[in-house]
Amino acid sequence: MPDDMARPLIRDRGEAGGSRHLEASVSDSPVIGILGTGDFSRSLARRLVSSGYQVVVGSRNPKRSEALFPEEAEVTSQVEAASQAALVFVAVFPEHHSTLLELKPSLAGKTLVDVSNGLRINHDGPSNAEQLADMFPESDVVKGFNTISAWALQRGPRDASRQIFLCSNSSNAKSSVMQLCRRMGFVPVDMGLLSSSLEIENLPLSLFPSWRIPVLCTLFLFILFYLYNFLRDVLQPYVTAGTNVFYKMPIETVNVTLPSVALVMLALVYLPGLCAAFFQLWSGTKYNRFPNWLDRWLARRKQFGLCSFLCAALHAIYSLSLPMRKSAHFKLLLAVRQMKEGDEMWVEEEVWRMELYVSAGIMALGLLSLLAVTSLPSVANSVNWREFTFIQSTVGYCALSMATVHTLLYGWGRAFDPAQYRFLLPPTFVLVLVLPCVALLGRLALCVPCVALRLQQIRRGWEKTRHIRFRLPEDDCRNGLEDASNV
Ligand code: NAP
Repeated sequence: MPDDMARPLIRDRGEAGGSRHLEASVSDSPVIGILGTGDFSRSLARRLVSSGYQVVVGSRNPKRSEALFPEEAEVTSQVEAASQAALVFVAVFPEHHSTLLELKPSLAGKTLVDVSNGLRINHDGPSNAEQLADMFPESDVVKGFNTISAWALQRGPRDASRQIFLCSNSSNAKSSVMQLCRRMGFVPVDMGLLSSSLEIENLPLSLFPSWRIPVLCTLFLFILFYLYNFLRDVLQPYVTAGTNVFYKMPIETVNVTLPSVALVMLALVYLPGLCAAFFQLWSGTKYNRFPNWLDRWLARRKQFGLCSFLCAALHAIYSLSLPMRKSAHFKLLLAVRQMKEGDEMWVEEEVWRMELYVSAGIMALGLLSLLAVTSLPSVANSVNWREFTFIQSTVGYCALSMATVHTLLYGWGRAFDPAQYRFLLPPTFVLVLVLPCVALLGRLALCVPCVALRLQQIRRGWEKTRHIRFRLPEDDCRNGLEDASNV
């Protein structure tokens, strides 16, 4: 026994070459075949061997590839591998699947696992797995493992995605592959019949599909507010007074832009929920479908929120770095030098404004961090639905209110100072406050008891148009009653 424990799980083939045949110590475990000796095959073979399987690898040129595999795996011809194993992984690019046709007799009645991916997203089908199933009608094709990279396979589930999406028309074949996944430490996810294989093949090819609109929106707002701030704070002094303040562009202008984007993005998290509520109140039912744009917007609230959090966090870091700049030191010295005897240094109102402004900002960032953490799937799974909605809705509105107060304190009386309307453009915070104020006022409107009650009724299934129309017996209607709901 101590000898067994001392033996490494995977041994590389030694210089002298290890046993080409399966070891007696694992001879009672199932034999798994792999066709192909590329990156994926090598990682899979290592993982299977370390999970206690006997592995036989089929290659067009076994001599060339055997040194790349662990000693415990047998590297042989494709026909021999196909004949020895009851479950065979096809680790060959789909373009070359047809070259495996000569293995048809050896693979008949066996389970083939198609791990292949396409080059680009395929919406029309057929999938690689469906084509493989057409080529090998006497084998049971299972689609899976394509969402796991060779690297992740090698590292194991501790260090990578644990889920493996599987589908097949044969439930026996699928359950044997699911068992294999579990033994390797992965979590199989049953995606149903082989018709789902197209979806599984498209999974690793999509590039953050739900993030595209929120990220584009963040970029668009950033560029818009940056240009606006640049125009007001950098270009206007240069054009009107010849003052060169272009040094503000990398930090100060960015730092005024980031909170603007953060606050507008946060308002965009709560506005679709309000639109949905008012839509339901207006249509008097919850059974009318929302317009597509609203559906899509509602589904991306989490991403909007996380983009807002990113901008707010960056704003905090930029703000902390402000006093470190040389320009800040020079400005301070200049202000001290320009002070005359008897000038009051302590302006009580300014001090209070700044204290409250910073405090509200820290509070808003803290609440936003809480929202970001609870949006993580692992955290969201550990709270119940009521707790989740409490955090995302109540705490979320608190974060929006705090961020709005933070912006109002920043603005203070400047909205009413004509000198702030440079190039006749209102200060940025005035524009930024529009959407958050709309969201907060909309939420307050929904809290009015009669509105809240009607919305609650609608969400419990009440409908404005649902009524029972009575008919007289001579109308020859069943039971004299007709349900005229949803007409
Ligand atoms: P690879 O390194 O290019 O290996 C492909 C293997 O296919 C070759 O080593 C070759 O082995 C074998 N093969 C059999 N018939 C062939 C033919 N007619 N022409 C060329 N090669 C032939 O590719 P890979 O990265 O391992 O990927 C293999 C499959 O796994 C692909 O379908 C891929 O989509 C899928 N996959 C790969 C990854 C990954 O991270 N690499 C992740 C998920 C899925 P012999 O010369 O020994 O026969």
